[in-house]
Amino acid sequence: MTLDTPLEHLRGVGPAVTRALAKKEVRTVRDLLFYFPFRYLDFSQSKPIKDIKPGDTVTVRGVLKTISSRYSFRGRMSLAEGVISDDTGSLKVVWFNQPYLAKTLKAGDDILLAGTAQRYKTLQLQNPIYEKFNEAGDSTHTGRLVPVYHTTENLYNRTIRNLVKQCLPLAGQLEDLVPAETLKNFRLMPLAAAIAELHFPGGGGQALGQAQRRIVFDEVFIQQLAVQLHKRQLARTAAPRIPAQVDLIKEFLAGLPFSLTAGQKRALWDIVQDMDKTKTMNRLLEGDVGSGKTLVAMAAALEAVAAGYQVAVLAPTEILASQHYDSFRKYLKPFPFSIALLTRNFQAVDGAKQTRAGLAAKIGKGEVAIAIGTHALLQQGAGFRDLGLVVIDEQHRFGVQQRGTLLKLPASKGPRPHLLSMSATPIPRTLALSVYSDLDISRLTELPGGRKAVATKVVSEDERAKAYAFIRAQLKAGRQVFIVTPRVEDSETSTIKSAKAELVRLQDEVFPRAKIGLVHGKLSGAEKERIMAQFHNRGLDILVATSVIEIGIDVPNATVMLIEDADRFGLAQLHQLRGRVGRGEHASYCFLFTQTESPEALERLKLFSRTTDGFKLAELDLEQRGFGSLFGSQQTGYDFKFSQYLTMDVLKIGQKAASELLKTDASLKKHPQLLKLAEPLLEQIHLE
Ligand code: ADP
Ligand code: MG
Repeated sequence: MTLDTPLEHLRGVGPAVTRALAKKEVRTVRDLLFYFPFRYLDFSQSKPIKDIKPGDTVTVRGVLKTISSRYSFRGRMSLAEGVISDDTGSLKVVWFNQPYLAKTLKAGDDILLAGTAQRYKTLQLQNPIYEKFNEAGDSTHTGRLVPVYHTTENLYNRTIRNLVKQCLPLAGQLEDLVPAETLKNFRLMPLAAAIAELHFPGGGGQALGQAQRRIVFDEVFIQQLAVQLHKRQLARTAAPRIPAQVDLIKEFLAGLPFSLTAGQKRALWDIVQDMDKTKTMNRLLEGDVGSGKTLVAMAAALEAVAAGYQVAVLAPTEILASQHYDSFRKYLKPFPFSIALLTRNFQAVDGAKQTRAGLAAKIGKGEVAIAIGTHALLQQGAGFRDLGLVVIDEQHRFGVQQRGTLLKLPASKGPRPHLLSMSATPIPRTLALSVYSDLDISRLTELPGGRKAVATKVVSEDERAKAYAFIRAQLKAGRQVFIVTPRVEDSETSTIKSAKAELVRLQDEVFPRAKIGLVHGKLSGAEKERIMAQFHNRGLDILVATSVIEIGIDVPNATVMLIEDADRFGLAQLHQLRGRVGRGEHASYCFLFTQTESPEALERLKLFSRTTDGFKLAELDLEQRGFGSLFGSQQTGYDFKFSQYLTMDVLKIGQKAASELLKTDASLKKHPQLLKLAEPLLEQIHLE
């Protein structure tokens, strides 16, 4: 057996278990070793039977005196009943619906039972976990902190624990890629020990924190190596210098029907100074949807064009690309240069349709100054003649594959274009400083043009009819409405609302005359875009959706955002959702429904209804829900597999460890395996 042995080769693993494990992406011994429990049952307390009191959660060792099964008198349920004894007394045991137990366990067996004692007439254990006592005394399911894993159909915790037990000795064969020096300096637990501890914690689990720290450290370390390598590369990369042209910018601004917010001015100044250098800019412009990021990008583009360079503007969807195309053309009208749109379905220059080949040729010859598009723009072959600036809107929304293409974009022979990324996702500053240390960040914290905040209200269930009546009035006035649920489909084990079920209910019972559409993450990208476009073009009155509509779609006519089971969303995510409305001239509303009775959860929602600052909400999210809420939800661009173990401390030491290693081995020549791990990460995230 090796780390790469498929689990189906192991004792007791049949096709059903193999398939169930594969569903969890667990195929080999190695996969299983990294399949960690999400919680533990504390059965570490063992007691003689006479000392057990109702409510005690304990492990009991004794001899099974009797065991038999029967059907309960209503005939519905099978019962296995037994009695366990030790030197101090006897205890009744009952298992429901596990009739096979009467065959698995026999009278006379020396066994361990773990569960919580209860009194029903007599003191008893109901449905305890059982295992036969072994002489070595190393129990798996009882007598310790017992791991609980995520399971699926045909996959039981019992099976997983037994398999992990079999595989754990192989953890010693895992190669620990973190240099010994680093392990020592940062007091990190050896990898194999950390893995063993996470599955079967010793003692009371005192070392669990250390084990978690070690596992997520590895991810942070690699991520930080990638980011810091990138930073070093950037510092060495020549870029086309775009001299600051204050008069030109003034002329542009003078032509606008409004003046810039203080944040926009600061951000633009940052960018102007960055581009006026021969080092390539790598700046992130953060601000809520509608905070005026695009306008800042336009001014930057104008400078680049005036200096004789081309500009590429990339958006994650066709709708967004078209919206950018329209606004660039509108605001840059006074300036005599060509602006093009290139997506899969649309190709145009200055309002005139083009063939794809024709447009590619124009871009290649430098006849187009600003080319706006989706990733189709990157695949157009000809390339740019003289690219000076790349603007990427919502970079983290691009799929991994598309990001791969992004990398290959700029003419990599010559100097590398400046890069401006824009994002509506607020990243807490503490996090940004460590995770994105290769990025400079500008933030827009205020909404321009005296726009009114979206009136936000936590709505109780008795006011549901009132909320629907309000929505009916909005629809009647010609407005549109979003209704968001946490899930796509209903589940038998929960009352959390699903988009599919809501669509049916709303259409049949609440808004029979409205045109209602449905969009969720299980649809293809093209299908999603089609439905969003339909909503955008007023072909739908109501859009029922999961959180996929976070994507920066602009529907100024939408005025109500109703969120079901709002407690299921992070504050930052709620803020993103709320940002879908209040984008036009009409007053807008956000209604939050919840089934929770937890005072903390309700307080969180109330706080949200009072807070309009997305950056503040993101910080609060981080404080309250930890890093898990930020990573893994596509919000940050980085995805730590073990983000549930992430802490600020690990981020800090990961950053420090990476920078110390790079001081002695600047291009990781002496650590080729670390380089091999860091490189793809680097490519995934940033433009090269
Ligand atoms: P973002 O790209 O951040 O979503 P936009 O740049 O598209 O935001 O701006 C949203 C809307 O606000 C646009 O219609 C834009 O013209 C307008 N706008 C931008 N800056 C200002 C400003 N300083 N004052 C008033 N309106 C502005
Ligand atoms: Mg935008």
